[in-house]
Amino acid sequence: MSRGTLFLLLACKTGSLALALLGYWPAALGFFFFPDFWMAYNLFVPTAQGICPSLTRFETALPEVWLTIDDGPDPEDTPRILDLLDRHRARATFFLIGERAARTPELVREIVRRGHGVGHHTHTHPAGTLWCASRARLEAELDSASAALAPLAPPLRWFRAPVGIKHFRLARALARRGLVCVDWSLRSGDWISRAPETVRDNVLRKVRPGKIVLMHEGPSVPALLRVRAIELVLEALADRGYRCVIPPPEKLR
Ligand SMILES: [Zn+2]
Repeated sequence: MSRGTLFLLLACKTGSLALALLGYWPAALGFFFFPDFWMAYNLFVPTAQGICPSLTRFETALPEVWLTIDDGPDPEDTPRILDLLDRHRARATFFLIGERAARTPELVREIVRRGHGVGHHTHTHPAGTLWCASRARLEAELDSASAALAPLAPPLRWFRAPVGIKHFRLARALARRGLVCVDWSLRSGDWISRAPETVRDNVLRKVRPGKIVLMHEGPSVPALLRVRAIELVLEALADRGYRCVIPPPEKLR
């Protein structure tokens, strides 16, 4: 979050006191609570741009999407997903959790060897607590994962926050490390769906050229959907004439 934004939010709070003293209560209440709503919206709504700007799509005139797969590597799922991607001549970016990558570095090397991208998805995936983490904890999450991933998959450029929830220091912390935040424009819903066909239908309903598709691997996906949902999505996208590509950085928006 920039200093200018912080100044404006504080000005709203102090201005509300002046309005209250003058007796303009509705306006005073509005100005008092506006910074809280703004902060909550931009922290907790993935793809909100106020606190930490993120990439959510790419420019293309072709039927192409960027398939991103979060929460790996997973010893069971990752090798099977890599085979599926090969079969469909699809490229994807795996947003990996640092401590999992440190346990199975051979999977990270295999992802890279097969021509896919690797992104940073924090060290321990603190989905519920990153937003309120201390500065030291935030930096440890970033630096520990970078230490695990960067030697295996250089250059490490893309970062995705767990479940898309940001921290008010995140933008500056990422910039210092040369990382860029990537969100998505198409949630597959694979972590809450009950059938792989539902995930496929979600993707088909919303797919458009240049969308960034969010999917998952490993234990965060319901057992019935693991790998199978990705398989159905790859088949359905191919049937519609869509290719899964890793977009050039200059096309990302
Ligand atoms: Zn995740």
